[in-house]
Amino acid sequence: MGAGGRGAAYAVRVRVAYAPGYWIELEAGHRFPMGKFPALHARLIREGLVDPRDVVLPGEAARRDLLRVHTREYLDALATASLDRRSERRLGLPATRALWQRSLLAVQGTLLAARMALEDGIAANLAGGTHHAFPDHGEGFCVLNDVAVAIRSLRAERSTLRALVVDLDVHQGNGTAFIFGGDPDTFTFSMHGEKNFPFTKERSSLDVPLPDHVGDAGYLSALAAHLPTALEAARPDLVMYLAGVDCVVGDRFGRLDLSERGLAERDAFVFATLCDAGVPVALLMSGGYAETAERTAELHAVTHREAAALYRSDRPVIQEPGAAT
Ligand SMILES: [Zn+2]
Repeated sequence: MGAGGRGAAYAVRVRVAYAPGYWIELEAGHRFPMGKFPALHARLIREGLVDPRDVVLPGEAARRDLLRVHTREYLDALATASLDRRSERRLGLPATRALWQRSLLAVQGTLLAARMALEDGIAANLAGGTHHAFPDHGEGFCVLNDVAVAIRSLRAERSTLRALVVDLDVHQGNGTAFIFGGDPDTFTFSMHGEKNFPFTKERSSLDVPLPDHVGDAGYLSALAAHLPTALEAARPDLVMYLAGVDCVVGDRFGRLDLSERGLAERDAFVFATLCDAGVPVALLMSGGYAETAERTAELHAVTHREAAALYRSDRPVIQEPGAAT
């Protein structure tokens, strides 16, 4: 896309941002599945879903970009590993120097993915989607709000950029909703478990709370009803897609009971809808807490398989304007 714009037919490489430094060691038995990042990268290469030449290494996010979203005090506390105990507990991860450096790479990966998406029509970060991060604190394993940093950084170069955040992680994107509340150029759409964390929810532009154990039919019909509405209201130049897999049955934290097949249908629908609308998408992994990190990576790979099936196919994936459908 990029040069082609709306109505162009295209088949593209799906470039991904990834750094080995996305992984850091956590104490044994920690609930956060750090191992899913290298496992996903290895799986995508092994399965041919990503060409090794299309893996792009992010550097560390620039402080001036982080300051577009986060407070100086919070950034300084993270950078010097001096977050207070209470804040660290709320974050759910040990606020070490290693975590800080890892977070800088992951944020830059999202900014990189967004830039590549604007060029190619789609690109991914093999991490990111840390939507519970607020300007002055982190929650629920989310240190920095990569999506907000990326949108605001791009907007510093292109002030008219309109963004749509499609957040299908099972948890509400409370940090993102808070940050973009009142921003007419960023539309936040969150579809999540109504009874799940965070228990006090912020207000997104469009919230679709779902009951526990909603299953495939209920989940997919809600998505089909609301994604086109969000797209129409947002009129975006770029979509940030948080493709969390914690809505899948068996997840330790999610309770929506989407099947693996339902997950594939979810992502096929999202990509086809965005593709038909000619809107570039930056794909972010967000949450997933299956029994093992390897299984979580397998589920994230489902999303990449759907992306590859659509965007890497040789057939035209977008109709020329006025062409028969
Ligand atoms: Zn989640």
